[in-house]
Amino acid sequence: MFIKGLYISWLDENYLDKAISAGIDTFFINLDDGSGKDKIKALFQKYKSQVNLIPTAAYTQPGKRLPENEQFFDGTKYFPSTPCPTNPNVIFKLLEFPLELYRDSLCNGIAIDFEDYGWIAYPDLVIPYFSQWEEKEWQCKCERCKNLTALQQRVENAELIKDQLGGIPLYHLPIVDSYIWSIGDCWLNEYTYEKWGAWDRILKNTNRMKDKGITTLNLSGLWLEKFTAKDYLERVEKVCKSSSTDGYWIYAQMRMSKNCYWRTHPNDPYSIESLKAIPYHSYIDDPNSVDSDANFFEKLKLINSNIDEYRSGLWFSIKRWFSSKFR
Ligand SMILES: [Zn+2]
Repeated sequence: MFIKGLYISWLDENYLDKAISAGIDTFFINLDDGSGKDKIKALFQKYKSQVNLIPTAAYTQPGKRLPENEQFFDGTKYFPSTPCPTNPNVIFKLLEFPLELYRDSLCNGIAIDFEDYGWIAYPDLVIPYFSQWEEKEWQCKCERCKNLTALQQRVENAELIKDQLGGIPLYHLPIVDSYIWSIGDCWLNEYTYEKWGAWDRILKNTNRMKDKGITTLNLSGLWLEKFTAKDYLERVEKVCKSSSTDGYWIYAQMRMSKNCYWRTHPNDPYSIESLKAIPYHSYIDDPNSVDSDANFFEKLKLINSNIDEYRSGLWFSIKRWFSSKFR
């Protein structure tokens, strides 16, 4: 089953409905978009019969200061926004709301975003714990961790997450880390956000993990604000035809949301800075913008409706056999 996903950073039901009409079958819902729990629950209630719903929680949040006994301690210094890897309470709190949604039969799996947000801008708050899982032995030396090696701490961290999930499918993004991959079911791949290359962006990574005996599904992410509507649709089609891919997910910040913070607060320095990094700001189906296409969702629907037929053909099965050597 080829997954057709949408990750929308700031929720806008108008565009969620348009996505469903175009054949999108899975929503990744950012739990930190500021809507609050009640609104998110109501949203899940509304969409649960229409699509698969995956709440997405960020492991590291530079805006959040943890209590000292939950912080990473390198022996000299505490990092207030980096969790101690072996503290069960951290994992409990991270997954508390997603698990509540799951218990209420409102979601089909749980996504954890393991990006070390803020480690470049706020090196006193955040360390690149997951991104540097191989390069550096990040060892927490707090009371709880002091007798464990860096490696034992990583194993313990993955075990704690696995235990909390209790068998619920884990969607993991964006890092390629063997500890996290070993407990995950589906990789939300960000290497495909802007550039394409089945080997460079997908198989090189899945092959490294396969060598360690770890496999996972690959969902290729495509960043909506980095393409014109025309180029984006071409890219979606290309991804759908790739045998290295089990699905795609639209990563949308502002082109599918009237509630995007940068849209609602255009004069905030954060907005001004963020918008510099993304070339296309218009709504994706804005009839008055040359970068958009008023028929974007109709065209996406057409691509989506042809995927299964293409992927059941002989040529595809040959390609699939070849790529299966690396994933
Ligand atoms: Zn610790």
